[in-house]
Amino acid sequence: MVKKSSALNIISFCDSHIHTRLCGHATGEMEEYVQAAIRKKLKKIIFLEHMEEGICSVQGKTWLSEDDFDGYFSEGLRLRSKYEDEIVIGLGVECGYNPDCSDLLLTRLAGRRWDQIGISCHFLKIDGMPHHLNMFSRKEVSVQLARLIGAEKILDRYFTDLTEAVRFLPGTMLCHLDAALRFLPEVSLSESHYVLIDTLLQAVSDNALAIEINSSGFAIRQEQFPNRRILRMAKSYDIPFVFGSDAHKPDEVGRYFDIIDALLLSEFCP
Ligand SMILES: [Zn+2]
Ligand SMILES: [Zn+2]
Repeated sequence: MVKKSSALNIISFCDSHIHTRLCGHATGEMEEYVQAAIRKKLKKIIFLEHMEEGICSVQGKTWLSEDDFDGYFSEGLRLRSKYEDEIVIGLGVECGYNPDCSDLLLTRLAGRRWDQIGISCHFLKIDGMPHHLNMFSRKEVSVQLARLIGAEKILDRYFTDLTEAVRFLPGTMLCHLDAALRFLPEVSLSESHYVLIDTLLQAVSDNALAIEINSSGFAIRQEQFPNRRILRMAKSYDIPFVFGSDAHKPDEVGRYFDIIDALLLSEFCP
């Protein structure tokens, strides 16, 4: 058992990034995620369901409509009161940025009271193509298309779009910063990407967002998103960290949090 400092203790007992079957690519009812979190002795969870706008995806809809969000809030509030003696339950949103629909996203975000607004960018418009590229998909069609376009070019746009999103949307945390193209194992970040990431982190700091340490990376590349170098850069800006599992199944809630605790202790509290 790793000895934790009190500051780290607080964040690692909250999982701030949990999906549910409502997004169409996860399994499990909201209540099953709550029960899993209680079994793992978490003190708090925040559901962070997908909002996208104006995206045309070959995989179909993998996000919530406004009607879906109505159901999400009504079930979430029921669970919040049912389990209030055991766990704190927050209701948030993972807002995928689309520069072509930024005003509409702003309007939708303003329409509800969110406990966390995560900023992401999952899709990219490709000139001459009817569908957006899903930069986070493991599907062969997406991976091949990404290789065809070129990883360098895609990541340039990804980091630039994220910076615009952080400046424009009322986000509270930036999700899985370096997870785009995560299913192209040959891809690594160049020094020019790190320059873009530095600009992005400056925007995160200026707008008082936190950086998510997303533990789903351990299942894909044996390291959290983002990598240690980016975490060190974020720390130099004094940006706070938030933990998220990106659970898409109830038993993924709080996954690998013990490893991240140990990493943070060795990296930042030696
Ligand atoms: Zn995401
Ligand atoms: Zn997510």
